[in-house]
Amino acid sequence: MKTLLLHIPQINNGKREIMVIPMGLFSIADYLYKNDIDVRILHYGIQKEIEESFDLNRFIKYNKYKLICLDIHWIKQAKQTIECIKFIKSNSPDIIIVVGGISASYFADELLKTIPEIDFVIRGEGEYPLLRLIKALESNRHSFQNIPNLSYRIEKNIKHNKVTFYTDAKFYEEISHSNFKLLINYDKYFNRLLYADFDTSKRFGIRDSYKNAFFYNPGKGCPYNCIYCGSHFYKKSYIKQKKGFYFFSLKKAISDICNSYSYRIDVLRISFDPDPERRYYIRLFNELPNSLKKKIRLIFDCFTLPSEAFVKSVTSHFRDDSTLIISMETGSDYVRGKINRPYFTNHELIQSLKKILKYPLNIHIFLSFGLPFERSEDFKKTLEILNTITRLKNIGITICPIIVDIGSQMYEFPSKYNVSILYNKFSNWALEEISDDRTYYKTTFLSEVDILNSIKSLRNSYE
Ligand code: SF4
Repeated sequence: MKTLLLHIPQINNGKREIMVIPMGLFSIADYLYKNDIDVRILHYGIQKEIEESFDLNRFIKYNKYKLICLDIHWIKQAKQTIECIKFIKSNSPDIIIVVGGISASYFADELLKTIPEIDFVIRGEGEYPLLRLIKALESNRHSFQNIPNLSYRIEKNIKHNKVTFYTDAKFYEEISHSNFKLLINYDKYFNRLLYADFDTSKRFGIRDSYKNAFFYNPGKGCPYNCIYCGSHFYKKSYIKQKKGFYFFSLKKAISDICNSYSYRIDVLRISFDPDPERRYYIRLFNELPNSLKKKIRLIFDCFTLPSEAFVKSVTSHFRDDSTLIISMETGSDYVRGKINRPYFTNHELIQSLKKILKYPLNIHIFLSFGLPFERSEDFKKTLEILNTITRLKNIGITICPIIVDIGSQMYEFPSKYNVSILYNKFSNWALEEISDDRTYYKTTFLSEVDILNSIKSLRNSYE
């Protein structure tokens, strides 16, 4: 059955968001491919950039796709992805539409109840369930009850099969996250700027945007429980690991990184840092071939403060323009403790930054305001730490509101955290373009407007 994995970004008024294809789409494609399914990935936004007159409907018909699987991973994709699904179905009613990803998993029931154009939702990890679904459809038996993680309609009822398919390092051992040839126009995808979550252009005169980037996490899950993070719901329901996370084998991670480099991808963006000692990464970097030494720029999200051993390892294996990112969120040590972030104090952060600054490496800090338990008095603390970091020089800082994640503890138990969430249903999110400059919640102490105004003041004092 010819299968298309389709990624719809959020493109609105010239602003391009969610341009990065979730890693899972590449592993699903490779898994299907290795099981003899005729599969390709299409990035609708890139295709439209290459060819303004691109006609998705004609493309689907010409290529005789029978099943289209779309990711609704980030909630910001909701509106445009649903519009696209309706468009496809109105032109090709026989096409089978499957959706998956974190947001689709969370809202599976509502999606099937309210959007008749969606035939199936896969909850959690998708490789094996999608293969089983394709095989069931090909056999014309249309019996879905034994397909793990699958949600579907039987007449007017919604059926949610049990979640029994989980991935682990062993499952991924032979599956590639870098079989980029399965992505149509992969070269155009990589040689574009996809994502610039931080930008030091105003302060340092350099727009820190990067192309040729491999967004790659060598594992899944997270041991921490930041109250605004959607990994809470996902790992509870779909990552069956005692620790809440696992790393891929070193052999597999090295193979993915080397393979991506063979496509001339020379920026490695990692946002997966579950072990404060980072022994896995130190070994991984040591075992990368010498031919890659200092050829790749590493952009690494540190969940905890980096040790000197880790910094040394990064600087000896990666380019000098590599960047470590630290999200401290607030200037209040008390609030940082209450939001369950991997904990460090302001003092510990500053000591750590002073040490890192001795190495040829960039540092970028993320700060915010308006978290639960944060009061207007805490604004001063955030302003103070902002000024202290600014005085250290050459550290990039981004100040932005935190958007509450679907399935986070704050989203699921708002009263426990004294917040009100604006949108509870998928249909609320899918009605409008979701903005980066909003929070979609208010707290007992601060309205959404208060939060956004404070963010603006922090930005003004930094810029
Ligand atoms: S935000 Fe917190 S819980 Fe979520 S992935 Fe990062 S460290 Fe883990």
